[in-house]
Amino acid sequence: MNRTEWLRRKDRENIWHPFTQMADWEKEAPLIIESGEGNTLIDTEGRRYFDGVSSLWVNLFGHRRREIDEAIRSQLDRLAHSTFLGLSHVPAIELSERLLAAAPEGFSRVFYSDNGSTAMEIAIKMALQYWQQKGGGEKKQTFMTLTEAYHGDTIGAVSAGGIDLFHKIFQPLLFITRRIPTPHCYRCPYGRARESCALVCATRMEEEVRRHRETIAAFIVEPLVQGAAGMLMMPEGYLARLREVTRECEVLLICDEVATGFGRTGTMFACGQEGVSPDIMAVAKGLTGGYLPLAATLTTKEIYDAFLGRYEEFKAFFHGHSYTANPLGCAAALATLSIFEKRGVLEHVAFLSGVMTEELAKLEGYRCIGDIRHKGLMVGIEIVADRKTKEPFPPEEKVGQRVVRKVREKGIILRPLGDVIVLMPPLSSTEDEIRHLVGSVGWAIDAVLSE
Ligand SMILES: *Cc1c(COP(=O)(O)O)cnc(C)c1O
Repeated sequence: MNRTEWLRRKDRENIWHPFTQMADWEKEAPLIIESGEGNTLIDTEGRRYFDGVSSLWVNLFGHRRREIDEAIRSQLDRLAHSTFLGLSHVPAIELSERLLAAAPEGFSRVFYSDNGSTAMEIAIKMALQYWQQKGGGEKKQTFMTLTEAYHGDTIGAVSAGGIDLFHKIFQPLLFITRRIPTPHCYRCPYGRARESCALVCATRMEEEVRRHRETIAAFIVEPLVQGAAGMLMMPEGYLARLREVTRECEVLLICDEVATGFGRTGTMFACGQEGVSPDIMAVAKGLTGGYLPLAATLTTKEIYDAFLGRYEEFKAFFHGHSYTANPLGCAAALATLSIFEKRGVLEHVAFLSGVMTEELAKLEGYRCIGDIRHKGLMVGIEIVADRKTKEPFPPEEKVGQRVVRKVREKGIILRPLGDVIVLMPPLSSTEDEIRHLVGSVGWAIDAVLSE
């Protein structure tokens, strides 16, 4: 048995993979990654693949990026980890300064954690405790969320989420939220057409916020792009109106920028595109350039101040993790922010986004492509059985999975969301890589549907 065979066997025998039907997995020969080089992943057999979903939406500037590698090595020579409970350390302090400078206006505090789900748990607990301690907001104990939302896999984050598939079985453990229909033009919840809808979704959302203002602690939202739902794009203007109405009604706005943050939508943060400053913002995925698990929940002075008091009042925020603000992660994040500052990253994203638009246009009218959704370097291509009725393929056809499998033959790694083919290439992609990526996906869709 060669080495790859041995590794495959041990994987099948020992490991349980996330979001994976292991019965299918056990029948497959999994791809085992050995190394990375720029935007390319290399398997144990030496085969090279373009990292078409940025290692599940985290990688920004490629693998083994010199500046980030060096920052981590140099931090490692000083300190790998020390606690953040009762102590502080250098890279976390430096990072807080730089993160606040990069964030939308109005933030004044950084609360660290170690992944997107915990950053959202923190946002939720912070919002609730804020109202309990502020005085006058004691009745604000529930949250408003969007129906197709995704905020992570821990119980609080799942409660705030709306994707039934992830939700249903855990129902007995989840807290109840007030759900607002996701504004989503391909399958408009109000049955309207974009040209003539007058943004009825935003009007209804405003009515709901006003109606429940007394009991809602915060509105939780993925700004502009609802990622895990299948790259659903918010119609322009919705987010700005959400900010206005939540401010007017004294409801906090929590923006989950875990997927959209760090240039992915074309601006540093998605909120920036509509001039929105939330009260609380969660970041993770791209924060370390896709290197290490680190997350942060940013908030305002107003919220922070409600947690101040005498020790014996116990108004402190009782939340923390063993690896809160891990120094190696902070060093990687500092190097990541430096790359943004020193090079024309967002200009390059704008250029690539234009290339993407051009290439995606060639797929318009392809059979079975129902909708193509695109913002910056986030793309969802939805495959449907019938373009007129928008009827999906039956799940047992596994169309999304088959397309992704097929496109590997062209040296590309992707991961679908159901029958939505997700493209989320690194910000460091080249023009040729983008053209090859989209072209190959078109080819793979065609090939699979002809089988
Ligand atoms: C991935 C994601 C999360 C969860 O982050 P993890 O680091 O996987 O826990 C939360 N919110 C959004 C919008 C995400 O895309």
